[in-house]
Amino acid sequence: MLNGKIALVTGSTSGIGLGIATTLAMHGARLMINGFGDVAGALAQVREHDPGAVFHGADMSKPAEIADMVRQCESELGGCDILVNNAGIQHVALVEDFPVERWDAIIAINLSSAFHAMQAALPGMKRRQWGRVINIASVHGLVASASKSAYVAAKHGLVGLTKAAALECATTGVTVNAICPGWVLTPLVQKQVDARAAADGIGIEEAKRRLLAEKQPSLQFTTPEELAELAVFLCTPAAQNVRGVAWAVDGGWTAQ
Ligand code: NAD
Repeated sequence: MLNGKIALVTGSTSGIGLGIATTLAMHGARLMINGFGDVAGALAQVREHDPGAVFHGADMSKPAEIADMVRQCESELGGCDILVNNAGIQHVALVEDFPVERWDAIIAINLSSAFHAMQAALPGMKRRQWGRVINIASVHGLVASASKSAYVAAKHGLVGLTKAAALECATTGVTVNAICPGWVLTPLVQKQVDARAAADGIGIEEAKRRLLAEKQPSLQFTTPEELAELAVFLCTPAAQNVRGVAWAVDGGWTAQ
């Protein structure tokens, strides 16, 4: 379905990004992946479907490295048709206790990185008259939770950036949209489950149950694969008039 399309997924060595990169490759896209940690494992997983998949180690808090990554995607793979801005980090603390360097890092990695990547990729997409930008925001781009000020601010910003860019591209073949997941059981959330288990003196399974019961009416985690199939849909011709949306996949979280 995506044969011939070239996709760059940031933060794709783990969790949601790895799920999206793998699924895009399964649907025929050629991939550039990015991120820290188990690069070899992630690349091996994506190469099962796209043997030519490549990796770029840009730190998403560094604008020059992001620009270099997009340039390299264009020169090495021949373009950047699908850009998935997914890299993200979390830190949980009250505003008055929030370490300033954590605030700066979250804004840089969860918000500004998407601006820098789009600034580098949009001209080529517009020239080729086809492009898909998919920003992985969050329910926290739509509503807030206590102790997540930087994350909530960054994700609300990302939803706003998505809308502004979508309007700028509205008469072109380039669409810009956001996906807003609720709880997805990835390493980012496992840390919060572990912290809750320790704080409440309960087991991991009970901590997961409490986490879901608080916010997510379906009482089920969304999976990276479910989000990836939505990303694939956004790349199809049927989605050509889906522009500037913030599409929640949250088990009813934001319906409340
Ligand atoms: P994760 O921790 O499993 O993956 C994060 C990825 O980002 C990893 O590949 C990591 O190496 C990469 N990364 C982190 N800092 C980076 C940097 N400076 N430069 C380059 N790469 C960097 O987390 P995840 O849960 O898969 O989250 C992915 C995205 O989905 C994030 O933007 C997150 O905010 C969003 N999200 C997650 C959930 C959830 O419940 N897990 C819910 C809503 C939104």
